[in-house]
Amino acid sequence: MTDKVTFASARPKELRADATLPVLLERMLGKWDFKKRFAGKRVAIKMHLGGHVGFSTIHPVFVRRVVEAVKAAGGKPFVTDSPGAVETAASRGYTAEVLGCQLLPVAGVADKFIYPKKVGYRGLKTVNLAGNIVDSDAMIVLSHGKGHGHSGFGGAIKNIAMGCVDGHTRGDIHRLMSAAFTWDKDKCTGCLLCRDNCPNNAISFKDGKIAIFDHACKYCMHCQLACPTKAIDIDQKGYRYFQHGMAVATKACLDTFSPDSVLFVTVLMQMTPFCDCWGFTTPSIVPDIGIVAGDNICAVETASLDLVKAEDFIEGSLPAPLKRAGTGHLFQQIHGKDPFIQIEECTKIGMGTGKYSLARIE
Ligand code: SF4
Ligand code: SF4
Repeated sequence: MTDKVTFASARPKELRADATLPVLLERMLGKWDFKKRFAGKRVAIKMHLGGHVGFSTIHPVFVRRVVEAVKAAGGKPFVTDSPGAVETAASRGYTAEVLGCQLLPVAGVADKFIYPKKVGYRGLKTVNLAGNIVDSDAMIVLSHGKGHGHSGFGGAIKNIAMGCVDGHTRGDIHRLMSAAFTWDKDKCTGCLLCRDNCPNNAISFKDGKIAIFDHACKYCMHCQLACPTKAIDIDQKGYRYFQHGMAVATKACLDTFSPDSVLFVTVLMQMTPFCDCWGFTTPSIVPDIGIVAGDNICAVETASLDLVKAEDFIEGSLPAPLKRAGTGHLFQQIHGKDPFIQIEECTKIGMGTGKYSLARIE
């Protein structure tokens, strides 16, 4: 069985405004029967709103069109993300006035508005589902597709698994990786890039020695990637556990909705090697691709990854110390991690096969 995925290309066929992506997006959303999905419903639009001075998250022009499509169908949309990202969203152009709907922290301002759900997967005993997601009637998972140091690819699965839960669960999922740090004193130059790029303030140096505060560490690998001398190494053997944990959390979240009330929209623009949570933007690694949409998460994720071609890589776009190595998907060449594994783990627990047919929007 294949699932339908629609695709609006970023490359216009003609030099007319209505052949460009915002208008194609509107046409594409029209193919997904918004009235049936969203009329009379409170619709969470789950985004990753980024942080600090990042500018590669989804442009408000596209978000506004999604919001307006929900409203036109009789739905009541709101945009949501983690409390910290919502708090600083205005500095990146996301305000209620611009987007056309309110912005709400996904688990409340204190990150404590949660509905715990027991899942019992290794160290991930419980998934604390974000209250504003569970309390909504429908959801649009509006994801920015990009590379990710921890999961190879950050798309819809990551948007839900890491974004529709509280910080505690996010940490539990990351810890499934059983990361074991090694630090080579002889390679360390003391540049402190690892400490300065840690989003969780987990690294400190005392008497010339690194100290990693395991409780705060989310195993995001930013420190390993930022280190110019490869003095830090993180054991990757728990990678599949981590990906399975993401699948479990994603399923726990999606199970709170009826199947016909969720749509996945992934924007494959400004595709950077890093996640938006780094709080800054580096060059795109491939030319802008477009936007995909569908109602099966595995199909949308597979189509997104298939549209990222290694041969389209833009030479010179990778910031040091990243470089391409080995074979496989472009994200695997950059991060050393197979980005399809998260989809495989979702398939194992009955979330879809990943087989799809692509319908191009003209
Ligand atoms: S893995 Fe991430 S959270 Fe942990 S110490 Fe490194 S940068 Fe900080
Ligand atoms: S980034 Fe690497 S070289 Fe720089 S202080 Fe950290 S471990 Fe040492």
